Amino acid sequence: MLSTIFEKIDQLFEETVEIRRYLHMNPELSFQEVKTAEYIANYYEKLGIPYIKNVGGNGVIATLKGGKPGKTIALRADFDALPIQDEKDVPYKSTVDNVMHACGHDGHTATLLTLAKALHEYQEDVMGTVVFLHQHAEELAPGGAKPIIETGELDHIDAIFGTHLWVTEPVGVLQTSKSTLMAGSDRFEIHIQGQGGHGSAPHETKDAIMVGTHLVNTLQQIVSRRLSPLDTAVVTIGVFQAGSAFNIIADKATIAGTVRYLNEDVQKHVINEMETIIKGVCDSFHVTASLEYQEGYPPVVNHEEEAEIILKMGDLVPGVEESQEIQPVMGGEDFAYYLHDKPGTYFFTGANKEGNNYPHHHPKFDFDEEAMKIAAKSLFTAYQKFQNK
Ligand code: MN
Repeated sequence: MLSTIFEKIDQLFEETVEIRRYLHMNPELSFQEVKTAEYIANYYEKLGIPYIKNVGGNGVIATLKGGKPGKTIALRADFDALPIQDEKDVPYKSTVDNVMHACGHDGHTATLLTLAKALHEYQEDVMGTVVFLHQHAEELAPGGAKPIIETGELDHIDAIFGTHLWVTEPVGVLQTSKSTLMAGSDRFEIHIQGQGGHGSAPHETKDAIMVGTHLVNTLQQIVSRRLSPLDTAVVTIGVFQAGSAFNIIADKATIAGTVRYLNEDVQKHVINEMETIIKGVCDSFHVTASLEYQEGYPPVVNHEEEAEIILKMGDLVPGVEESQEIQPVMGGEDFAYYLHDKPGTYFFTGANKEGNNYPHHHPKFDFDEEAMKIAAKSLFTAYQKFQNK
C-alpha cells in the first residue's frame, strides 16, 4: 500500500505544484480565507469526497472512509497567509498587495489536497478513516484550531498528525521531538501613564520615557536573574513608543512584546515577575501603568509513541535521509490544542530551497516544492503506522 501511494504522490506532483502556486498567487489573511476555503471545498466536491465547511470559522474537514476497517486519523494543513509584501521575483508571486504566503501554508494545503486525491483512487485498500483537516487562521491568535475543536467535529478521531515545511533544514531531513517541540507564545502591552510637561522643568513632571527605560531593563532581568538557568523563557520587547517633541517630557509610553515558554509553571512565574516589576518601578516613579497580557497558543507537546513513528521515517519514506530528534524551537503553533485532546505528533519537513536562505515570514521566503512530496509521503506513512500499532 505504501509504495502504491508513494508512486501516486509522485505522479500527482505536477498538480501539487500547480495548486501550491495558485494559492501562492492568491493569499488571504487569517480569518479572511473565504476564497481559499471555497477552493479547498471545491476540490473535495470534484473528487466526490464528503466534506463539511465553515467548521469553527473557515475550516474545511473532508472524510475518506477506507474499504478496510481501522482507526480514524486526522491529517492537518493550515491555509492562511501573512500581512507581508511579496518581494520574490518569480512567476507565482502573490497578486495581492501586502498579503503573502510567507510561511508555506500554501504548500501544506497543496500537499494534503493531492494526498487526498491519491488515497481516493485507492479507497478500497485504505485502512480506517482519513480526516483531512484544513485549518484556517494559524498565524493569528486565538487561531483556528481551538474553535474547530470546540465544534466537536474531531471528537471521534483516534490520533492526529501534521507537518510544517521548514526552510532552515534541507530537503530530506525531518525533525521532531518526543515531547515539547514548540513553545507557548503570549503577547503583552504595557501602557505607562506619567505626567507631561516642559523639557526645562523635569521636576514638575513624571517622565514616562524614564519609567519606560527602567521597565525595559528590569523586564530583561526576569530571564537572566529571576528564572532558574535550567528553565527556558524568552521575554522580547519589540515596541517602545513615546514622545512627541525634543523639548517636551512625555506623559505616556507604550511597551509591547512577546513571552515564550516551554511549560506553564515558567509562564506563570514570568507573568508574576512582570506584575511585580511593573508595580515596583511605577510606584517608585509615582506613575501608573496597566499590563494587558494575552495568553496565546500553549506549547506544542508531542506524544512519544507517535513521535517514534516520525523518527523512523528515514527507513520508511524514500527521499527522507534523516529524521532527527531536536530540542524545542521557540516559535508557536496552535497545533498544540489538538495534542491536548488526542495522541499525535507535529513534525518539520526540511524544505530549504537552494539559493534562497530567507527565513519564514520574510518578504522573500520560498521553499523547495520537492519537499511537498516528502511531506505527503511522511503524513501517509504516519497514518499507516498508527493503523498497524
Ligand atoms: Mn506557519
